[in-house]
Amino acid sequence: MAKFEPPLYLDNAATTPLSPAALEVMRPYLQERFGNPSSLYRLGRQAKKAIEEARATIARALGVLPQEIYFTSGGTEADNWALRGIIERTILERGPNFWAPQGGAVLLTSQIEHHAVLRCAQYLERFFNLPVSYLPVDREGRVQPETLQAELGPNATLVSIMTANNELGCLQPIPQLAQRAHQAGAYFHTDAVQAVGHLDLQIPQLGVDLLSASAHKFQGPKGIGFLYLRQGIEIEPLLHGGAQERNLRAGTENVAAIVGMARALEESLRHLQQRNLHLQRLEDELLRLLREKGVPFKLNSHPPKLPGVLNLSFPNCEGETIQQRLNLQGIAVATGSACDSHDFQISHVIKALKLQREYALGAVRIAF
Ligand code: PLP
Repeated sequence: MAKFEPPLYLDNAATTPLSPAALEVMRPYLQERFGNPSSLYRLGRQAKKAIEEARATIARALGVLPQEIYFTSGGTEADNWALRGIIERTILERGPNFWAPQGGAVLLTSQIEHHAVLRCAQYLERFFNLPVSYLPVDREGRVQPETLQAELGPNATLVSIMTANNELGCLQPIPQLAQRAHQAGAYFHTDAVQAVGHLDLQIPQLGVDLLSASAHKFQGPKGIGFLYLRQGIEIEPLLHGGAQERNLRAGTENVAAIVGMARALEESLRHLQQRNLHLQRLEDELLRLLREKGVPFKLNSHPPKLPGVLNLSFPNCEGETIQQRLNLQGIAVATGSACDSHDFQISHVIKALKLQREYALGAVRIAF
């Protein structure tokens, strides 16, 4: 029988394996502690207590209050809720088309957001005729605070800029961007799905009003995440029904996943420094080997960036072909371009960098 070779998984920005410690704390809530947290007898209360302990753990790790954490089904839901929740509440308060007399964008975001933000912004444009501004980025993939400032008009209600980009790993200057938004009277949301559990993030220092996170990016289970909502800010619910999550997010809680997420976050942060040093060594070694072997490439990830995430362009190569060839060798990486039947589709993130076509087609993301 052929010897089983474990695959070399270099796509940890797509998802991560569940940590054994998270699995262990989840197991009882899938079996003997199966109670519904809304039930008032012991089994229910036990589940409720586990949820509230998990909420407190997550809040403590991020320097905020437990009642500012709302559990969601993941990053996509948290992003959609942040955008729709703020915009719909504002329209209810100020009336439809409140922006019409003065004009200018109500929602401001960037061209390199994850589709969970971009597609939701497009939905709001279509559904409410909402004016949205999609801010360009510089050659390193960063939104310059001056670029945001120039677009902040009297109707600016919500700015949504991601903490770390999922294709490039680049970090945005969130405190400076949030400050500009606040000066203009707008709320600031950040999609921190790639950053939570990988950087020492303290929400008060970021200065954001809303923040999205997802457990499966930091060795927690899939299908669970949270939205941080600063106390005092009112948003519309995304899901209507029961009274869960302080009447804002209906549906019986995924107790096991919530407990697993808190455990995974704790663990991920405990080993942060040590792990990031290791990731830096792996990055350095890969770049050294590529240079030593004379492989031409261009680095699309520039510091400050996520540890362990490298986006490289191999000129005159096709990212998808590289990905498929590596796959045959048991190596998993992601690419910023994919071939449909007629042409190459370059990702919106790579397009926003305005790379020459020969480089744009050959972009590959390696996430150690
Ligand atoms: N936002 C970013 C930056 C992401 O990288 C992802 C996942 O790839 C998401 C949002 C969506 O998160 P989820 O998979 O939990 O819905």
